[in-house]
Amino acid sequence: MAGAAMNGRWSVTITGEQWDALHSHLFPGDGDEHGAVLRCGIARSDRGNRLLVRDIIPAIDGTDYVAGDRGYRKLTAEFVADNIDVCADEGLAYLAVHNHGGRQKVAFSDTDMASHERGYPALLDINGGAPVGALVFASDAVAGDIWLGDGQRESITHLRVVGRPQITLTPAPVVAALADPNFDRQTRIFGDRGQAILGGSKVAVVGLGGAGSLVSEYLARLGVGELILIDPDKIDPTNLPRVVGARRRDALAWLRHPARPWFLRRLGDRFAAHKVSIAARVAKEASSAIRVTAVPSSVMEPEVAALLTDCDHIFLAADSALARRLVNSVTHQYLIPSTQIGSKVSAKDGMITDIFSVSRASSPGSGCLQCNGLIPAWKLTAEATSPEQRKRQQYIDDDAVHAPSVITLNAVAASRAVDDWLMSVGGVVELGAPADHWVSYHPLTGEVVEIEPGKEEDCFQCGPNRFALGDGKELPVVPPSGNGG
Ligand SMILES: [Zn+2]
Ligand SMILES: [Zn+2]
Repeated sequence: MAGAAMNGRWSVTITGEQWDALHSHLFPGDGDEHGAVLRCGIARSDRGNRLLVRDIIPAIDGTDYVAGDRGYRKLTAEFVADNIDVCADEGLAYLAVHNHGGRQKVAFSDTDMASHERGYPALLDINGGAPVGALVFASDAVAGDIWLGDGQRESITHLRVVGRPQITLTPAPVVAALADPNFDRQTRIFGDRGQAILGGSKVAVVGLGGAGSLVSEYLARLGVGELILIDPDKIDPTNLPRVVGARRRDALAWLRHPARPWFLRRLGDRFAAHKVSIAARVAKEASSAIRVTAVPSSVMEPEVAALLTDCDHIFLAADSALARRLVNSVTHQYLIPSTQIGSKVSAKDGMITDIFSVSRASSPGSGCLQCNGLIPAWKLTAEATSPEQRKRQQYIDDDAVHAPSVITLNAVAASRAVDDWLMSVGGVVELGAPADHWVSYHPLTGEVVEIEPGKEEDCFQCGPNRFALGDGKELPVVPPSGNGG
């Protein structure tokens, strides 16, 4: 979706849960060879094309995976036919998988390659030109041979496991370049390899208000290579106590003071800085190497939403149900982990009943914001209607009511969110940690509450309707409206 121009690089993305299942099927401890088929969605981008594992179909030894006439073992013709039919029906890529011995290095044998040459031209035909190919695994390595509809044939650069921790497998060990000595204090935790992962990461921050501005600064200082910053709003004088790096003159506070005549206030509104411009300035002051794309538009615009689809992680710090639904969809459709953060003050009869800030790190394929009741239908409806309609229907006009907010509370959520991500991509989270990490902090009682999100198997957002379909499905963006609105 993002970037029509394709580059020849291909990789595979798989969730943590899928990886555990595939790995234990291929390496049950018998030292033998086993097989499977992966049916994959496709996400094309000029950052590299990704095959998104949607279904893992293990081949049963002796039934689907049998003694070969030329090689050691082979998938039966029936097993291949059943799977390629599903791929052709659903527009998915087809990958045959087997394993060799060894740990950190793997390559196809000559027999493997010869069998691809015999079989794949016909499979490519049946699959209507969608990619077909093969992966071969060692315990901690993978190589791939991908056949494309245009007659091209590509290797894969890597396979990424987007669980906690995140793992990247390559055909042979990659030696990380020595990190910039300025990062010495953090490479003592993550190593040069961890720093290289941060430097190669592209991360989106949606919403650059109180919490998002902190997240953006943290990412820049950690050495993240590329930031996509999305927020349509301009800075307002009431944001100054919370938005990091904001200057009084960014908000044109003196022009917009209630005591000024209306035309001066309007001028101030017009020329105040966009929140994304302030965040971009802070990021570039923190890091000379960082690339920043500042997008002063709504994430609900189709071409802005498309920018999310080749990121490595998305931080959502915008308090909107539509944005929540969109990012939630991108996470499960494109297998891109995301973290929703925010803070809230609840009051009843003028008395504060609860204050909390929350960080919800979600991995693709596990329980989503929709399954857990965090994208209420009434709020989607309210946000999708015009301000006039909203007034008529007597919804609360969110734009006019500023929710209570304070920098310290935002900082707790932002720190937790970035910390969770950092530990996960830095590879220091313990293996077997839960895929999701949802945690809220309640300063009135000092409680920290961890919530294990549930999952509904048929969920419209994280279930089969959308899961791993990549470019094969529309995202829930707002369709371009006529000139009536
Ligand atoms: Zn082989
Ligand atoms: Zn769900």
